Amino acid sequence: MGEIYLKKLKDISQFSGWLNELPFNIPLGKPVVLKPNLVFPAPGTSGVVSDARQAGMLIVHLKALGVKDITIAEGPGLGVDPLEAFERTGFGELSRKYNVPLIDLNQARRHPVKWYDGELQLPLMFTDAYYINLPKLKTHINTLVTLGMKNQKGLLSYADKKRFHQSGLHRPVAELYQLIRPDFTILDGFTAIEGDGPLFAGKKVELKVLVAGADPLAVDAAGCRLMGIDPLEAEHIKLAADMGLGSLESKINGDRLEDCARKFKRPEMEMLKMLGLHNQRTPLACSLCGGSAREGLVSSARDPRKWAASLMPVLRRMVFGRVDFVYGQQASIPKNSQRVIAVGECTRHLQGRPGVIWVEGCPPSPEMLVEAFAKL
Ligand code: SF4
Repeated sequence: MGEIYLKKLKDISQFSGWLNELPFNIPLGKPVVLKPNLVFPAPGTSGVVSDARQAGMLIVHLKALGVKDITIAEGPGLGVDPLEAFERTGFGELSRKYNVPLIDLNQARRHPVKWYDGELQLPLMFTDAYYINLPKLKTHINTLVTLGMKNQKGLLSYADKKRFHQSGLHRPVAELYQLIRPDFTILDGFTAIEGDGPLFAGKKVELKVLVAGADPLAVDAAGCRLMGIDPLEAEHIKLAADMGLGSLESKINGDRLEDCARKFKRPEMEMLKMLGLHNQRTPLACSLCGGSAREGLVSSARDPRKWAASLMPVLRRMVFGRVDFVYGQQASIPKNSQRVIAVGECTRHLQGRPGVIWVEGCPPSPEMLVEAFAKL
């Protein structure tokens, strides 16, 4: 049985005091690598990405413990500019303030590791380091939840990230966890995301709870329960438990989980449904194309000029016909379709087919999707 630490905070400044209760057990002289979730250029208060204020307090704490060598490392998602993600999240500023290097893992030196599907290229810098994972607590349109195990996808090269999506995410995420596991995890549910996470299609929740521990699977299981989700429903977590890679049960130090939990909305792609778009997302699609569409629709709804140009055609189609919004690997044109918006590189093979508006990019920008809606 694992042992975890759970804390409900009133204010983010209490995070610093809570760190004193956590058993880091960092070997003397060992370098420490922090792996936040900076998947998208967004502020830390959005719930979408790690909170630089927490990371700052952690750095101060680690320095007080005598840690001399601290690095922050993250590989933002496909189609995201890492520099923009680092600056927008506040981690660029954090790195400069505390003189702690901030590494883009997409460019990191790697070494090949054999795994169930050939070889995987893993970053060398984790080999001899004490690795602290700093995931967010969110629901996810592909994997139901995204917590510590799923946050490890940021360790991968772009090519391996794509392979993960092509393989349906769950199995590769569990297999990755067999190869590399954090020494310690601090799961941030101070601000969380429910519904169509992990990006802005989801809704921010001020849960104000943090979970930590040295058994990442026990932390993830507690994270699921905090959202009112059985950990066995998240296939990658169930797979890791079946592989014997940790415990789903744990002794909890601190606040009672039942007192901190809240029933989270599950992912449903509500925005697209609301507009009557038939959301044809394949199981191999990643979260970014759907997130871009939602961003485009939201920005159109806020701007009256865009509203007339891009949302009206969608609504007209909705009344007089049907629009299929298609994305993800192995996408096909649905039966009885009339107009199809095929999104992203994954659907390039549908370009030029009758009735198809193809939008290039991986993912396309929200603006490109707004332009596509206007062509309906
Ligand atoms: S095209 Fe879209 S769904 Fe496909 S990998 Fe790129 S972002 Fe993900």
